[in-house]
Amino acid sequence: MYDVAVIGGGPTGSRTAYRLAKRGYRVLVLEQKTRPGEGACCTGVIGSECIRSFAVDDSVILGRVNSARVFSPSGKSLSLWLPETQAFIIDRAAFDAALANRAQQEGAEYFLNSRAVNIEIKDDAVNIEVVRHEEEFTLEAQSVVIASGFASRLAEGLGMGRIKHFVLGAQAEVATAGIAGVEVYFGSEVAPGFFAWLVPISPVKARLGLLSNHSPGFYLKRLMSTLLVQGKIASDEVEPNYGGVSLKPLARTYGERLLVVGTAAGQVKPTTGGGIYYGLLCADIAADNLHRAIASNDLSAGSLAGYQQEWKKKLGRELSTGYRVRKLYQHLSDGQVDRMFNTIADNSMVDLLLKADDVSFDWHSSGLLRMLGQVAISKAVELARAPFRQGV
Ligand SMILES: Cc1cc2nc3c(=O)[nH]c(=O)nc-3n(C[C@H](O)[C@H](O)[C@H](O)COP(=O)(O)OP(=O)(O)OC[C@H]3O[C@@H](n4cnc5c(N)ncnc54)[C@H](O)[C@@H]3O)c2cc1C
Repeated sequence: MYDVAVIGGGPTGSRTAYRLAKRGYRVLVLEQKTRPGEGACCTGVIGSECIRSFAVDDSVILGRVNSARVFSPSGKSLSLWLPETQAFIIDRAAFDAALANRAQQEGAEYFLNSRAVNIEIKDDAVNIEVVRHEEEFTLEAQSVVIASGFASRLAEGLGMGRIKHFVLGAQAEVATAGIAGVEVYFGSEVAPGFFAWLVPISPVKARLGLLSNHSPGFYLKRLMSTLLVQGKIASDEVEPNYGGVSLKPLARTYGERLLVVGTAAGQVKPTTGGGIYYGLLCADIAADNLHRAIASNDLSAGSLAGYQQEWKKKLGRELSTGYRVRKLYQHLSDGQVDRMFNTIADNSMVDLLLKADDVSFDWHSSGLLRMLGQVAISKAVELARAPFRQGV
């Protein structure tokens, strides 16, 4: 019997497996794909804090980012720039493979091409039904960690509820005519409810992606045509990958002999859709809590509840503020977004935000609240002055 079966060999599954195998537990990772990271729909942008905290190897880094041009729905642009590197672009397949290697070096076993199709939690063990090629078999473990990413129904099947608030994504690697840096595009005609991006990964290649309330494939194809006409990309003959991210976490991420982690649990920044760093942070919390529960021979839901308390303490404010701001944004018209751009540009808010100590690539809530406050104040001042301007 395995001590822990981890479903999903993505970043969070492999990180959880690594931490537990390192403590001497017998860990099995089930991954339905042929290789970890294969075909991942992800741009692979992570912040410096993630690179430092998880000792991400230089060999998986494709590029560094310290500036971006952000376009409003009507095409006005704001330039963001800082002297130091703010984010890194990683090769997702190589990154996932490196995390899996690390876990294997500590003794974790990987079953590839192996899809978990059913999980049964019993009083004394967990049974997992697996399909590998044509073969079906059942495995037994003391506990299970679901790290199966977006759109997996495994956690829901175990009574954890479902991710109800999400956006859908599409991404393609496109040939470019040499763009200067990262570009971000807003607007209901570009990516309704979210935004799109063009991230160079070499002098001739970029990742073009978007998240939206619906029809991501349609909007991505349309954006490709626009960028082709503008001469920013060299071809639109590419097939995208599809995915999605949650905007709000599962109400419950633990149960008897069970933890849910990463995108499967909704541990994703609702502001940007970035989920790698938060998923890795939660993987460590999951592994530590599972270790304590196994060591004390108490895998009850009560004993594992500490996992949710701990990750909520770390990320709860970020996720709930981010969600509220995302919802607010989804209700704005293109005209209102354009006016916000103007207010931000006119009041040097970009500078204030970029220089603020409490705002970084991964932690947004203080900055968002401050920016909303500033926009509200600027609007109030503008409205208060209006009668005088009109000579009333
Ligand atoms: C368009 C787009 C762009 C993104 N860009 C970024 C970005 O730039 N930066 C960032 O931080 N985040 C980004 N994300 C989010 C990021 O991809 C996820 O947050 C991250 O992959 C989460 O890791 P995970 O391990 O939880 O899940 P995943 O990476 O999805 O891994 C889950 C794994 O489980 C496997 N699996 C699923 N079901 C089963 C099963 N039943 N049995 C066995 N295996 C199974 C899958 O094959 C997969 O390998 C993006 C998402 C999208 C959609």
